[in-house]
Amino acid sequence: MIVVENVAIACVDAAGTEHADGHVVVGDDGRIVSVGAGRADEPAGEVRRVDGTGCLVTPGLVNTHHHLYQWATRGLALDETLFGWLTTLYPIWARLDAETVGAAAGAGLGWLALSGCTTTMDHHYVFPRDGGDVLEAEIAAARRLGLRFHPTRGSMDLGQADGGLPPDSVVEDTDAALAATEAAIDRWHDPSPESMLQIAVAPCSPFSVTGRLMSEAAELARRKGVRLHTHLAETDDEDDFCAQRFGCTPVEYAERLGWLGADVWLAHGVHLDDAAIARLGATGTGVAHCPSSNARLGAGAARVPELLRAGVPVGLGVDGAASQEASHLGAELRQALYTARTRGGPGAMDARTALRLGTMGGARCLGRADHIGSLEPGKLADLVMWRLDGLGHDGIDDPVAALVFGPPAPVELALVGGRPVVEGGALVHADAAELTRAAGRAHRRLMAATR
Ligand SMILES: [Zn+2]
Repeated sequence: MIVVENVAIACVDAAGTEHADGHVVVGDDGRIVSVGAGRADEPAGEVRRVDGTGCLVTPGLVNTHHHLYQWATRGLALDETLFGWLTTLYPIWARLDAETVGAAAGAGLGWLALSGCTTTMDHHYVFPRDGGDVLEAEIAAARRLGLRFHPTRGSMDLGQADGGLPPDSVVEDTDAALAATEAAIDRWHDPSPESMLQIAVAPCSPFSVTGRLMSEAAELARRKGVRLHTHLAETDDEDDFCAQRFGCTPVEYAERLGWLGADVWLAHGVHLDDAAIARLGATGTGVAHCPSSNARLGAGAARVPELLRAGVPVGLGVDGAASQEASHLGAELRQALYTARTRGGPGAMDARTALRLGTMGGARCLGRADHIGSLEPGKLADLVMWRLDGLGHDGIDDPVAALVFGPPAPVELALVGGRPVVEGGALVHADAAELTRAAGRAHRRLMAATR
């Protein structure tokens, strides 16, 4: 049992409950026993007491869009559009293997944990023929670090020869991709409420995947009871591609293929007209908002306040890591707020809305809102205790404002299912320096192989 006390708390429940000085009790079953003001009732049994003076406890952040393998190719094509960036990187990614992906995922996941993330998805869609089991490699990294993990089995089957963007060397055969996706679900997906590992089905994008793969992937996911994810409406180039090839907008194309619904969440959703936003709202389709990646690639700014008004579940994603080198989920709270205000003025988003996007919004996108995303008795004890009494934050009296408006806050403690994954700003289950060296070796090996 863990009792955190003398701490500010933002529950992010439906009522927006907050405590200036409160406690959280975590049971041996990894679930929250109680959250409230003042001291906890004296619990029976062996208890670890954590003094949270100077800190804020929030639900653990949920990352709804990422490409962990890209940690091995950061800092390239720095001044390109999405299509220019992709065509530079595809030939490098064609040399990926399980060792490289494992090292990149270890670094990316470690960095996410240190940035306040307790649950992350990963969108992996490059499966070189001789690359080994890259999905297994990233799952092993997540198990080691202790994060709740929702990797997706992605895919691409529309190469340049057929009018797609990726070179033919990095795309898969359609039926082989579907069979491998089904095998990944059968092998890994755990649907239980406490699940640490859930698989989703994630063909990459309209310009790298055939319509047949999209629609059959949707049928597969629904037959298996898993969720669906893809990139959609990210750039003007994608709008033009869909208009020329399909005669419609990306959202109309997605709907035609069975890709709108409460079991779908889409990465980006930047270029959405009013009709598209209304369709996402009416169907309960979620959006992974990735403001730093969208800024890095100059893709545009998503209409998040409008999406929220339409009832769309919106989560935050760091995306990347090669299209957003920082990949820091805590920093994405502020980036989301700033992006909304740059478009719509200071009333467009407040700090608590940004925090809700990063927690409950993400849990809704991943289909886990009943179990994570807020601090409530009975929910899984996925929480983060942020230190706010240092030079960067002290003196900002509202702790939620300090977290969102201030610099990325140090993580004093992060729990996943009641188990510590970060303590005192350091990873519990891995050495950050060792993760750094392994990822550095993977980067150099990949670049040398491509040269
Ligand atoms: Zn992406």
